Amino acid sequence: MERYLGSKVALATMHGKEKALARPFHSLLGLELELPAGIDTDQLGSFDGLVLRQGGAEHACRRKALVGMAALGLPLGLASEGSFGPHPGMPFLAAGLEVMVFLDQERGLEIWERLVARRTNFNHRSAAEPAELEGWLAQVGFPAHGLMVRPEHPCSGAETLLFKDLPDHPQLARAIDAAAAASSNGRAQVETDMRAHRNPTRMASLRVLANRLARRIASACPSCGAPGWGRLDVVPGLPCSWCGMPTPLTHRERFGCVSCSHTEEHPRPDGLAEADPQHCPLCNP
Ligand SMILES: [Zn+2]
Ligand SMILES: [Zn+2]
Repeated sequence: MERYLGSKVALATMHGKEKALARPFHSLLGLELELPAGIDTDQLGSFDGLVLRQGGAEHACRRKALVGMAALGLPLGLASEGSFGPHPGMPFLAAGLEVMVFLDQERGLEIWERLVARRTNFNHRSAAEPAELEGWLAQVGFPAHGLMVRPEHPCSGAETLLFKDLPDHPQLARAIDAAAAASSNGRAQVETDMRAHRNPTRMASLRVLANRLARRIASACPSCGAPGWGRLDVVPGLPCSWCGMPTPLTHRERFGCVSCSHTEEHPRPDGLAEADPQHCPLCNP
């Protein structure tokens, strides 16, 4: 897509996300990222829980992009936002939902991509002393992945006590001791740092998402030519190979435009035309 070749796009981030975004947006679209100086994206909601995010991930993401565009006076903006918690389908498994948006104010376009990251180190533990975390620290990837430490039940005056950017085990141990000492139950809460620059697993998800978003922007609508053509959702009903009844498996994919109302349905990209009877509500109830 020639449309954006050589243009600048504002990316509001304090957390090094340009490392994941710069290459796909440059190589697929010819866009150059520009980072506004002195922007505090944590004001829009932060992972340390000190600032609560207003109005959901999409809302925060769009606002962040607009703040960056306003700071730089650019009509193009990018932002991403992550949410972490139990997996929607598997409550015992941690998952991350990453959303990323591209705004083109001149053309009135808003182009989104979303990613459910099944691989995440999102986790937390309570500890009175560092020895209780042996094993767990390796599991969450410390020190390559960051940790945040705070009192589990903060004593009066210690409500905002928070240790982060801990580079090694000795400094982590000192933070746990200090947080436990400031907690009424003598325990520290230790949680994974989900800020992109302290979480290589999350940075890898952002790289995948950035590639998908850049590819979607590079796809023109077959009807009006606007950028951002891509998959909207999937249509279930793949027929059973024994009885022909529709199954819950994906039958077709629905594509759509962000600018006009044009949509198209396409067959599954893997070419599968019939479902194994094990998925059929009639043959295998
Ligand atoms: Zn069947
Ligand atoms: Zn269109």
